[in-house]
Amino acid sequence: MIAEVIVDITNSEVDKVFDYKVGNLNVEAGSRVSVPFGNRKIEGLVISLKEKSELSDSKIKEVAEVLDDFPALTNECLSLVNYISDKYKVSKAAAIRLFLPAEMRRGRVSEKQVEFVLFNEDIAFEDGLKLIKASAKKQIAAYFELNDRKKLRAAKLRADYGNSAVKGLLDKGLVNISKVRVCRLPYSEMLSQNKNVNLMPAQERAISSVNDTDKTVTLLHGVTGSGKTEVYLELIKQVIQSGKTAIMLVPEISLTPQMFKQLRGRFNELCAIIHSGLSAGERFDEWWRLRSGEAKIAIGARSAVFAPLENVGIIIIDEEHDGSYESESTPRYSTMDIALQRAIHNDCKVVIGSATPSVESYMLAKKGEYNLIKMPERINKRPLPEVIVADMRQEIRRGNNSFFSSALKEELQSTLQSGNQAIIFLNRRGFSQQVMCRECGYVAKCTTCDVSLNYHRAGDMLKCHYCGTNYKMLTACPECGSVHLNLIGTGTQKIVDELIKLFPNARIARMDNDTTRNKEGHYKILQAFASHNADILVGTQMIAKGHDFPHVTLVGILDADMSLYFSDYRSSERTFQLLTQVAGRSGRADDKGKVVLQTYSPSNPVLRYAMNYDYEGFFEREIALRKATDFPPFALIIRIMIEATEEQDAVDTLKEVFFALKEVHENERQQFLFFNKMKSPIKRLKNKFRYQVLMRIKPNNEELRKRIYEVALACKNDKSIITIEENPSNLS
Ligand code: ADP
Ligand code: ZN
Ligand code: ZN
Repeated sequence: MIAEVIVDITNSEVDKVFDYKVGNLNVEAGSRVSVPFGNRKIEGLVISLKEKSELSDSKIKEVAEVLDDFPALTNECLSLVNYISDKYKVSKAAAIRLFLPAEMRRGRVSEKQVEFVLFNEDIAFEDGLKLIKASAKKQIAAYFELNDRKKLRAAKLRADYGNSAVKGLLDKGLVNISKVRVCRLPYSEMLSQNKNVNLMPAQERAISSVNDTDKTVTLLHGVTGSGKTEVYLELIKQVIQSGKTAIMLVPEISLTPQMFKQLRGRFNELCAIIHSGLSAGERFDEWWRLRSGEAKIAIGARSAVFAPLENVGIIIIDEEHDGSYESESTPRYSTMDIALQRAIHNDCKVVIGSATPSVESYMLAKKGEYNLIKMPERINKRPLPEVIVADMRQEIRRGNNSFFSSALKEELQSTLQSGNQAIIFLNRRGFSQQVMCRECGYVAKCTTCDVSLNYHRAGDMLKCHYCGTNYKMLTACPECGSVHLNLIGTGTQKIVDELIKLFPNARIARMDNDTTRNKEGHYKILQAFASHNADILVGTQMIAKGHDFPHVTLVGILDADMSLYFSDYRSSERTFQLLTQVAGRSGRADDKGKVVLQTYSPSNPVLRYAMNYDYEGFFEREIALRKATDFPPFALIIRIMIEATEEQDAVDTLKEVFFALKEVHENERQQFLFFNKMKSPIKRLKNKFRYQVLMRIKPNNEELRKRIYEVALACKNDKSIITIEENPSNLS
């Protein structure tokens, strides 16, 4: 037998399949092996076995060692490796890495084993007893206990009866020692914490709809607090009862510990967590529990889509609109894409849920490609929070220059007085700055792209990140002529300082990227707030996600329009989603909730739709705009980024890529909606010069898409790096 092995080396030059003789080792497709490579030994993965090699026998070396006693990758995972490396044009070694916990490579983790002492059943108890001297009281007592229990932890036995008693029994062959693998079980305090509830009719209907539809994907569009979680839990329960397994994806597990709590609390050890915040050993053990079939439910952020489960019965993607489902490092896979591949392979359903579905998903649902379920009401018909709009332009005219409108101050006051909690949300994304008119709220936009311009200090100019056009910095507002132009951007600390002045007795917690570099930090702040150890939580995007804080009755959104003007074609969509999600944190239990939404542009249609909870209206407007401007889902944006330490190298490669693609462009002009080369908005990053070719092509043209990848990647050289992104949410 010959094993075809992918060796674990990042260098793409060796992304080749190597043949090795198997000898009499127990090697399967998917096994991790150690193989001789050059004059050293390295790790590799067997992707298939074959009878014969095309190479002459003397040239083929032998597999040195099989690293695990089970194949690490299932057949399904192996076929996904091929799919990913072909679709995203990455090496197979890089694709394989997605499926293995990092700890597993280079033997950085060891299984935790515990010694057990086992009663030897081959010798009858009475016969055994005769072999022990009557004076060896402790040996006899230990032997009695082992006869009763059959198996005891060696450490415990030694502690109770002494080392020599155990040794005595061993020497006489009355007991055996065996090592048993035990798994470290993270978050065990959450076990059995979640009780079953009686489902509401809307939840029952949703579950039947998923089971009855013949469509693979179901989109569950349920407002915040409509009880989507119980729908997921019931679907998982049914799948487990039928002997299958389940994958549950959440945007960012450390920010949404509640979903994990619910699953662990309901399904106990059957549920394994895939989470970068775990210790190396825990991570490996949870992976192993899934691989060995001991655990049947995987929950985690996007990487959990690679969970080593067999016989998958359902894949659930919660908060499907969330940007974290797009990978930001190579391979830049789309989680939904992988989920669909797995669904096809396992013949199972995919359920995606959100209060604010992505425009792409909702369009597919409306077209009938996805099954669409709506849950338009909150549990127990609790009302959605009332939205109070505060026009910050008027506040300024009235002489209020603080961050807080008078409405928000009043509402905060009464919330604190009634002993409830409040969330103050700052709408911030990225670090780019926009120019805004303080009098009328106008924001400088690109004339052809309908995205806002970014201010560049270097050169004091405005730049469109989509088409590369530069504009002179404005001296006056083109709408109202005012010269009061502002660059927008403030930090959370300033907000907290002002809050302390206003409410000296309130306990204030703050959560943003500055306060919490590590993920455990996020969890702690959220826990503290959940157990009412703080009255006000101030934070950015990361507090918007699916938290269920029952005592929160007020949400203040300081700058609702802020994210409208980021240079992302999705900025309207992101704003709508954010506002709806943050508003949804208010009034989730018995007390009614309120939202104060502060804005400089109260008549902006996106804000109006958000404050009226009108998803449908928002969607219709947005999809029409996308169509008119040739943006996704009516186009596929492809960005080819070229980075090099020497500027000239980047420019040279850029030219090469551009001219190679120009040929493709000229042959298929009608398939291109946009095509150009330019410097990147951030010209130099981490000591590298960055240039890019940016294009928009008609969607669903897989042939052209692959062609572009191939042509661009063929220009690879050792002086520059080429990376390709699709529909990037950040073009800086
Ligand atoms: P969503 O995920 O749609 O925002 P959740 O799943 O968090 O909503 O549910 C909102 C609230 O309603 C939660 O506090 C949850 O415990 C409660 N809930 C959900 N389903 C039921 C039910 N069938 N009976 C009683 N309470 C429920
Ligand atoms: Zn103006
Ligand atoms: Zn433009």
